[in-house]
Amino acid sequence: MSNRQTKTDVILIGAGIMSATLGSLLKELMPEWSITVFERRASAGEESSNEWNNAGTGHSSLCELNYTVEQPDGSIDISKAVKVNEEYQFSKQFWAYLVNSGRIRNPRDFIVPVPHMSFVQGQQDVTFLKKRFEALSRNPLFQGMEFSDNPAKLMEWIPLMMKNRALNQPIAATRIESGTDVNFGALTRILFDQLKSRNADIKFNHQVDDMKRMGDGSWELKVRDVSSGTAERHTARFVFIGGGGGSLHLLQKSGIPEGKGIGGFPVSGLFMVCERPEIVAQHHAKVYGKAALGAPPMSVPHLDTRVIDKKELLFFGPFAGFSPKFLKFGSMFDLITSVKPSNLTTMLAAGAKNMSLTKYLVQQVMLSKEQRMEALREFVPNAESGDWDLVVAGQRVQIIKDTAAGKGTLQFGTEVISAADGSVAALLGASPGASTAVSVMLEVIERCFPQHKMAWEPKIREMVPAYGVSLLNNPDILHDIQASAAQSLGLADTAKHGELINK
Ligand SMILES: Cc1cc2nc3c(=O)[nH]c(=O)nc-3n(C[C@H](O)[C@H](O)[C@H](O)COP(=O)(O)OP(=O)(O)OC[C@H]3O[C@@H](n4cnc5c(N)ncnc54)[C@H](O)[C@@H]3O)c2cc1C
Repeated sequence: MSNRQTKTDVILIGAGIMSATLGSLLKELMPEWSITVFERRASAGEESSNEWNNAGTGHSSLCELNYTVEQPDGSIDISKAVKVNEEYQFSKQFWAYLVNSGRIRNPRDFIVPVPHMSFVQGQQDVTFLKKRFEALSRNPLFQGMEFSDNPAKLMEWIPLMMKNRALNQPIAATRIESGTDVNFGALTRILFDQLKSRNADIKFNHQVDDMKRMGDGSWELKVRDVSSGTAERHTARFVFIGGGGGSLHLLQKSGIPEGKGIGGFPVSGLFMVCERPEIVAQHHAKVYGKAALGAPPMSVPHLDTRVIDKKELLFFGPFAGFSPKFLKFGSMFDLITSVKPSNLTTMLAAGAKNMSLTKYLVQQVMLSKEQRMEALREFVPNAESGDWDLVVAGQRVQIIKDTAAGKGTLQFGTEVISAADGSVAALLGASPGASTAVSVMLEVIERCFPQHKMAWEPKIREMVPAYGVSLLNNPDILHDIQASAAQSLGLADTAKHGELINK
């Protein structure tokens, strides 16, 4: 054990998009506060936030069919879609603020406009899509969405998907130009560079192994320098556990009662990636389909235009799978060591209830490349195996807890868990994920710093103009805020092929 000890106002564990966002918000609100970040990897954004580990969709329900649910009476419930859309508006507004205040130089380094589309086949799904379109079109958040079941129109929108398609069943799609592709890895790195330039102490290759509450209410962290193996102790008044899949173990180590009884279930992912320019040039959209029967919502197949390292690519997937690791660079013992006396019965109940999901995930892992190509050919009939490579994506740890729906319920959203005194908060879960980082981190701030609410609100409104405003009841304000954020982020003019890069 080294004698190294530090005391800071804030410690952020993990250098992913969540810590990057919380650190950036706090630096704006309290520039004089000292912030220390501990990250076990050698750089920021190497886990789920990395551009190769997630799909880069700015989730705003413009294309994701699982956010709109058909009710028994045939109507469409759009409440989740509205919530996710509003949360993404917060992110865009904060990023626009960072651009306008000169903290982010060029928004094209992390965000580009890419139309968002939903695509379905078969009469039942076409009818669902039409009803979804009609329900969303009545809402100001979804203005500009188009629907078509005309193959000629679809050929215009998605030529790669329509070429050589057997038109033996009805097909339809919706399309909206205001969708985005976000390089969350690049954004994470930009935000950490920015924090570093404003005196945050960012310690890479430092793993937090343990944490305990001190007599004065602060937290002492046991941190290991993974290069030298030496252990250090660092204390802070406030700790954010932003360890992604690593958060559950740290929350358990904190011992706070709010973290008891919670478990995690890891779901791994794979993408198929095409880098051939002549194929990439034939597709310009993020096109989401419907999840297969029995598949978890995070395995909805989609074919996406992506921009990574100033290059356009196509991603297809994600294919879900099972691995006991909680992080991509995690341990095979992660799942088993997360089972504690306090969550044992919850985990057992979840295990019994979700046998079919586990079976599905194990089957997914066993798929051959050719079987994955068959799934891709539902989207790209002409796809050839040699043009597509398999890439391992990030790990998602879904929350398991006892809810009104029963013991050991598997949840697919994100959840902030915080101590009653606000001295520590953790983020668990993975969906809708990075897109909602600003809204979720504002929730952390509300919960953990209620004493600063009055003083901070004007600054929060300056950074996120829609904060606390009902946009649905104020369509004019909504329009102005949206237009101004789009202008600052370079999203106002829709881009075509070749215009996504180098602006
Ligand atoms: C396949 C897939 C597709 C996705 N697609 C999308 C999408 O299209 N759009 C979207 O918005 N979201 C998407 N997501 C979700 C999104 O990627 C995550 O919600 C988001 O990146 C989580 O950010 P984070 O900061 O919480 O975690 P991470 O980015 O995982 O960062 C956590 C960091 O903590 C570090 N860490 C962990 N434990 C410790 C420790 N003990 N000590 C020190 N450091 C530690 C890790 O090394 C890591 O760097 C997707 C996720 C996956 C896996």
